[in-house]
Amino acid sequence: MKLIIVANRLPFSLSKDGHGIKLKKSPGGLVSGLETFLKKYDVEFLWFGWPGASLNKKETKELERIIEDKKLSCVPVYVPDRLMDRFYNGFCNKTLWPLFHNLAPLAVYSQEFWHSYVEVNRLFLNTILSSVDWKDERDILVWIHDYHLMLLPGMLREALPNISIGFFLHIPFPPPETFSQLPWRREVLEGLLGADLVGFHTYEYTNNFIRSVSKLLGIEPIMGSFIYNGRVVKADTFPMGIDFELFNSYANRVEDRVREIKRHLEGKRIIFSVDRLDYTKGIYNRLLAYEKFLSRNEGWHGKVVLILNMVPSREKVEQYQSMKRQIEQKVAEINGRFGSVDWVPILYHYRSLDWDELVAHYLACDVILVTPIKDGMNLIAKEFVASRSDLRGVLILSEFAGSAKELGEAVLVNPNSIEDLARAIELALEMPPEEQESRLKIMQERLRRYNILKWGVEFIEALKEATRERDKLKARELNEKLMRRIVEMFKSASKRVIFIDYDGTLVPLVKRPSLAVPSQEVKDLLKRLALKENTQVVLISGRRKEELEAWFSDLPINMIAEHGCWIKYAGKDWEARATMPSDIKDKIRNVMEIYVDRLPQAFVEEKSFTIAFHYRNADPEMAIGRVAELVEELHMLVANTDLNVLLGNKVVEVRPAGINKGTASLSFCQDCDFLMAIGDDVTDEDLFRALPERAITIKVGPAPTFAKYTIKSYKETINLLKQLLEE
Ligand code: UDP
Repeated sequence: MKLIIVANRLPFSLSKDGHGIKLKKSPGGLVSGLETFLKKYDVEFLWFGWPGASLNKKETKELERIIEDKKLSCVPVYVPDRLMDRFYNGFCNKTLWPLFHNLAPLAVYSQEFWHSYVEVNRLFLNTILSSVDWKDERDILVWIHDYHLMLLPGMLREALPNISIGFFLHIPFPPPETFSQLPWRREVLEGLLGADLVGFHTYEYTNNFIRSVSKLLGIEPIMGSFIYNGRVVKADTFPMGIDFELFNSYANRVEDRVREIKRHLEGKRIIFSVDRLDYTKGIYNRLLAYEKFLSRNEGWHGKVVLILNMVPSREKVEQYQSMKRQIEQKVAEINGRFGSVDWVPILYHYRSLDWDELVAHYLACDVILVTPIKDGMNLIAKEFVASRSDLRGVLILSEFAGSAKELGEAVLVNPNSIEDLARAIELALEMPPEEQESRLKIMQERLRRYNILKWGVEFIEALKEATRERDKLKARELNEKLMRRIVEMFKSASKRVIFIDYDGTLVPLVKRPSLAVPSQEVKDLLKRLALKENTQVVLISGRRKEELEAWFSDLPINMIAEHGCWIKYAGKDWEARATMPSDIKDKIRNVMEIYVDRLPQAFVEEKSFTIAFHYRNADPEMAIGRVAELVEELHMLVANTDLNVLLGNKVVEVRPAGINKGTASLSFCQDCDFLMAIGDDVTDEDLFRALPERAITIKVGPAPTFAKYTIKSYKETINLLKQLLEE
């Protein structure tokens, strides 16, 4: 297998001086995490990215020579300066960055920025297409990273429809209400859906993405997957870990430096703060909180120091320059107000630290302040926890950092509350050593288990699985020859089970479900089949049991109603398999009825454990928006209940979770040597997926399916059943 990594940056950035070019490590969590993963995961890879500066011909040659000499497995994507500026400083950092961090008022919407974004994504595409030998495309996995390249999965899919493409977003994905403010929201979502797997750091971001696709594109998720353009696209959560063992065993390497830092600040407790300079990191609020803490705790004066380290970032964006000035002003103000001849309350640095220096500070401090307003993950918090092999130190962590989901034993704070932050500093400085130890121990265990290797391997395995699922959707049309083979297998089997869906499978879909009365021919067919020796016929439908009962009670067949909520074994009574409390059912009905008023021709169908909103007769264009809103409202209504919202063929249904045609089918499948299932609806996909590999699964109609074969219409179902009878 060969892994193609695509990220905005290469793992190094270039700097130029009079004597040529120099490589230094690129800043930030993405590069730091990915690089560590690639060192640990034994795989051939090639990394595409921008080299960090524009180069003339001579410098380009020099860079390519360095890459070759040092065997860096990298391909630079060259982007002209002006274009890079509009793309990176413009669309990426003035539009997407604030919007995705829930700071929508800061987002700038410029058509020019957007065009640059499209253009740069295309530049990446062209470089990738021309630099890789795609002959063995089955052996190549492409893994695209982050918000700079959200159109690339779609572009690449168009050029190479069959390759495996994974995408990982390293920043938050905002809720649909925020995301939908983006004028190019459709294009971005469609770009992402070019991937087979889209990964996020937390469940919240995954869910925001799923809701956005459903709301804005009207495509409904089925267990975290979408069917888009005839392919399965999966969305899932993979919290990025760190190289736990490396950080946990770092102390020996830097013990002299740790001692030096402590000696330099003898008699003082150390609070450490280190981030890229960015408004999402909450640095200014942190200073306000420290100021508040000092103003009400005179006893701590002269006994505590805040080491504030800001890492230069996006220095060309004016907003960042003014933020830097504002922070520096505040630092000077605090030092002026509280400091004395022998005490400087804040030691301020504007620089990037190498890992030795960074970990030495993690180890020398008593408290670390990681309080972003919003952060995709935040690796600093995880690295600090892992480094403290001495089991000392307190992490103050924003509840809005992705890592807070895994580091619940930190002192969690709301970074918008200065009072909350100031109190957290007091609490942290007073925390007894035993409590520090017990909190760190639990967090370390978690980080040890879900480390950076696990993150990457899980993503890659999930990508392979998603690609396999996608390929399974390419069912074969059932021709005469295959049909004869099925008849042969049926003949030679000693115990046979046939699942048949009703609407659209045995009879055509009609405008009102009540009109789909079975013909005598259909009933005779089912009866004769069921009377065959060693043959079980299971009619498996979403309909109410009363309807099936009225039409088929005189036949010796098994019946499954309401998608598995009711089962009736031939000759026995109906058995309930689910529950639905009446109060919640009333609420669901009320919501659905409001939408019936808003979408002409839609109607509600109520069953004992499920309630459905049908819109097959409604105007399709109008339905997209309305149905998406309904689905969202229903999702909110059933959150924290045992109910699921499910989208079928022009129907939205709320029903008990974990009960579907697949689970309902299982009790029939034991010991049989001929298993066949025919169905036309999305709900039949549960059945196709649940049945064992040997089952003959047949989808009626042209849509993508997990079934092995497809037939064109219900008429072919009848034809096939007739052929089985002729044996
Ligand atoms: N880092 C570093 N030197 C510094 C500050 C940070 O090498 O002076 C590294 C740090 O080890 C971490 C990454 O940069 O791995 C920061 O990642 P994080 O997720 O915390 O923030 P991001 O910069 O991605 O927003």
